[in-house]
Amino acid sequence: MSATLENLRRELIEKIKIYPNPDKILEALEYGQNLHDGQLRKSGEPYFIHPIEVALEIIRLQLDEDAVIAALLHDTLEDCNIQYTDIAERFGNNVADIVEGVTKVSNITDNSLKRYSELESLRKFVIASSKDIRVLLIKLADRLHNMKTISALKPEKQIIYSDETLKVYVPLAEYIWIGKLKRELEDIAFRIKEPEKFQIIENLISKDANLSSEITKNFINTIEKLLIENEFSDFKVFGRTKSYYSLYNKILRKIKEGEELEKFDISRIKDYIAVSIVMGSNKTRDCYHVLGIVHEYFQYSERDFSDYIAKPKPNNYKSIHTVVKFEGRFCEIQIKTAQMHDANEFGPASHIAYKLSGQKNAKPTNQFQWVKSLTKWTEDPAQNYKLDIFDNKVFAITPKGKIIELPKGSTTLDFAYEIHSEVGNKYIGAKINGHIVKINTQIQNGDIVEILTSKNHKQPPLEWINYAFLSRTKSKIKRFAIQFDIEKEITNGKNELSKYFLQKIKIDWLNLDSTVINHVLNELNLKEIDELYTKISNKTINKRTVLKVAVKKLNLEIEKDKPILTKKEDDKNDYIKKVVFEGVRGLDYAKAKCCNPIYNDKIVGIVTLRDGLKIHKADCKQIIDFDEERILDAKWE
Ligand code: MN
Repeated sequence: MSATLENLRRELIEKIKIYPNPDKILEALEYGQNLHDGQLRKSGEPYFIHPIEVALEIIRLQLDEDAVIAALLHDTLEDCNIQYTDIAERFGNNVADIVEGVTKVSNITDNSLKRYSELESLRKFVIASSKDIRVLLIKLADRLHNMKTISALKPEKQIIYSDETLKVYVPLAEYIWIGKLKRELEDIAFRIKEPEKFQIIENLISKDANLSSEITKNFINTIEKLLIENEFSDFKVFGRTKSYYSLYNKILRKIKEGEELEKFDISRIKDYIAVSIVMGSNKTRDCYHVLGIVHEYFQYSERDFSDYIAKPKPNNYKSIHTVVKFEGRFCEIQIKTAQMHDANEFGPASHIAYKLSGQKNAKPTNQFQWVKSLTKWTEDPAQNYKLDIFDNKVFAITPKGKIIELPKGSTTLDFAYEIHSEVGNKYIGAKINGHIVKINTQIQNGDIVEILTSKNHKQPPLEWINYAFLSRTKSKIKRFAIQFDIEKEITNGKNELSKYFLQKIKIDWLNLDSTVINHVLNELNLKEIDELYTKISNKTINKRTVLKVAVKKLNLEIEKDKPILTKKEDDKNDYIKKVVFEGVRGLDYAKAKCCNPIYNDKIVGIVTLRDGLKIHKADCKQIIDFDEERILDAKWE
């Protein structure tokens, strides 16, 4: 056994003594080590070093026995040849559930930036898939150890991992307020992703380190003395360190254009030196009393004063913030009761929203409101690890990696309409994880859903409301079904009329001049053309009636020598007026070659598909080949 592995085993065995049932953890230690036996890390070390390191982190976070066991076994389902039941039989369903959860979450987060397009949805998806806060914590501890040992990976892999850490894991750590993990993760990732900038920040900090720690020490002493002089005894004053990454982000917001990062004066960050005064009495009025004392003693900046006790942040963060001058530097003082301090530290939501949005006083936007619900678990962490804020939600994924959040019970049809109404209207089928499913199949968390569409399908049938779960989908279906019905009728009526006119008089209704069309509408007492089409389609107006009215007007217009078509025919030959078709004069026609009718022959008109209108002798044999619909009554003028 390698020396490192030996040492880590010893450390773990020592640390688990505080647990009620360390033997069970020991059993997992042996079981896991056997399963991973022979496997190596990229560094060449025995693989089992990794699960032990993760378990040690979980112990540091003071999680329960099941979490420690799950941490030791967290990679076994993925990398060793065992099943859920193998773990469940030995260590119980609880442990098996956590290990399975970690495996599921790993499948989501691996290469996630490549696969998913929206980060906030991705984080929600991870939380929803975790179901147990311990799953998330093991995953964070897992990522932390992988980041600590990242030098064994290729440089390009290191960058991808760091980017993923900053964009996916750090915010998750922040949501559940695991400040320790968050700071470690972001500083390692920052160092790898932006090595030059990390170096600059490190230089800025170290240049100032002696001075600022001296000032902080004196500042704390001064405040302690001041409070004791004012007869306070039950309080704590302490400083805090900012992570390199959050300091870097703060500087970015302060720095002016053209200014060099290297030359930034760190003392411009007014809360770079910051101390908390925590009142053990838990009396709010003591906080204000202390504020009064502090403001009387130090020169303070009115601009930087915020009373989050009188007016808590929307996420319920409570504290008084004030910035004072001390030994030539800006120093921030945060005053709060011990209860407020605990709530702020452990209530994960507190700091998230305004920090992530990048502005000090920005209100949390709605998109982060859900994070608040995560605080619930801290109310009784010993007994309640359940992460159920998304219990009534499922997260489904498009083949392109867009995550769609849906209420539980939603079907593939809901999914289609959720992507876009167009997609819903063109729906002809769906695949879930590659398999064709029924329209009303309910979507499960993590399903990859592909909607099959057809360009020709433009309208949902009304009965589809039976296949939708969401009322918003149902109302869309209703709306589109009706809207398309009207549109369909209009198109229908228009086409029918056009076809009928062509058949009967060889004039396309659609080409008629507006004087003719308006005449028809007037005669039939219609206001709009769409009304005419709808009535043609539903047969409340007879096409023949329209034709009669139109023909009358057409002849009238032709007599007045006005154009009857919007598109004027170029060649107005002499013979144009010689044949009257169905009572209409002025149509363009040609003589059929088969029978070559001459003036005063008995004739008929035939609408051909390619060559337009032709006249045949009435007894021509060719006529039999034509549809009766295409034969027009024709007379010589
Ligand atoms: Mn792992």
